[in-house]
Amino acid sequence: RILDLQDPALLTDRAYVAGEWIEAASGRSIPVSDPFDGAVLAHVPDLGPETVRTAIDKAYEVQKDWAKRPAKERAAVLRRWYDLIVTHSDDLALILTSEQGKPLAEAKAEILSNAAYLEWFAEEAKRIYGDVIPSARSDQRIVVLKQPVGVCAAITPWNFPNGMITRKVGPALAAGCTMVLKPAAQTPLSALALAVLAERAGVPKGAFSVVTGAAEPIGREFCHNPKVAKITFTGSTKVGRWLMKEAADGIKRLSLELGGNAPFIVFDDADLDAAVEGAMISKFRNAGQTCVCANRIYVQAGVVEAFTQKLSAKVKELKLGRGTEAGVVMGPLIDDRAVAKMEEHVADALSHGGTLVLGGQRSSLGSTFFEPTVITGVTQAMKVAKEETFAPLAPIISFRDEAEVIAMANDTEFGLASYFYAKELGRVWRVAEALESGMVGVNTGLLANEAAPFGGIKQSGLGREGSKYGIEGFLETKYLCLTGM
Ligand code: ADP
Repeated sequence: RILDLQDPALLTDRAYVAGEWIEAASGRSIPVSDPFDGAVLAHVPDLGPETVRTAIDKAYEVQKDWAKRPAKERAAVLRRWYDLIVTHSDDLALILTSEQGKPLAEAKAEILSNAAYLEWFAEEAKRIYGDVIPSARSDQRIVVLKQPVGVCAAITPWNFPNGMITRKVGPALAAGCTMVLKPAAQTPLSALALAVLAERAGVPKGAFSVVTGAAEPIGREFCHNPKVAKITFTGSTKVGRWLMKEAADGIKRLSLELGGNAPFIVFDDADLDAAVEGAMISKFRNAGQTCVCANRIYVQAGVVEAFTQKLSAKVKELKLGRGTEAGVVMGPLIDDRAVAKMEEHVADALSHGGTLVLGGQRSSLGSTFFEPTVITGVTQAMKVAKEETFAPLAPIISFRDEAEVIAMANDTEFGLASYFYAKELGRVWRVAEALESGMVGVNTGLLANEAAPFGGIKQSGLGREGSKYGIEGFLETKYLCLTGM
């Protein structure tokens, strides 16, 4: 399909390796399709490990020079890249929606809110401070330098095809690192469009490469290539675990942003309308396909009926369809497998005593659509409470008191995001401190922004993205011990 772009050069079917736009030496390619109807949009190169090695070699070669440039200069390049993304955000949104499915307005919001990480880290580049520490000895001075880790390899998922890239490459380039990126096979076109703009912004040849191809061989090359110092990954806990094992031989630095199983808790003193609004955003944004989506909705017994009614009324209004169509607020799921998982979770909940309030079946819009669904009477034993559904399913679990809901909320190996709605100040502090997650939304269903540290604890990952903490993972600490004075 031909996309109606203002700047057609943003849509490319070549990979960007070591500053060149290339096809695969083997001639092999991978199709990219629209999840709405399966229409093929493009074929991107299926690169082998030898080409990935070329990208890593070049990233290694240019890194020293990039790191030596004054921070002000690196900042200016990042800032230009940010400006170009903003200027071209409509085209980038159309590319994103076409390969991923989310509504255009949501695609544009993803692009702008995550381009903000480039803007932020352009500013942070100039504020990478070392330290001078008073020594225990009078003839000694202790100086701490912050230096870039070196070549970074990034692997990103399909649910935020644009945003997961800028939040990784922004701090990397700001710190003086270079990066080779492998985008998700489903959504490489957004990554390549970003590379077109990076080149225009003046990112040096080879400082940022985008390699497309089979995940495992590329991942293996990233993990075993001695020139790669760090791997930064967003995706499933399963793949994160695999990368950690593979990268162990080379003791590579790792940042992992993995799966979640976010509890969303509504206490009886909450503003119910605000809680419903927060639940809608947290649960149904991107058709439920975000790692911080509310996965389990806990509502205190006294308000569970009122909350369910209000939520269901809002869910009923959701307009499903093609992401480019006006008024559509929920697109398709990424593929048939995602629909099958939702179907499995719905069937499991209903067969174990859950009550269907709304939805519950596939939609007539096509094989990648499932009706947004609300189920009550859910228990901790059901699949919906244990696994990340990653789809528009809102399971409602009733609870009696604070202690019970905290125990249930923490009963998971994941610890990415949590949310709760309450007014009483003592409760707000108690619950915020007790929830085992890297991020807690208090009276809000939306957490991420460039000024805040995004990331998880437990098996949801390592490291943080965004904020002053987000650059730490791209820096090494070097201690100079000066004596002889
Ligand atoms: P999801 O279920 O969201 O697709 P994955 O963890 O499978 O999550 O995918 C996230 C990213 O990890 C994608 O870019 C995918 O291609 C990549 N990936 C999947 N398997 C591997 C692997 N063995 N090595 C490296 N990358 C992988």
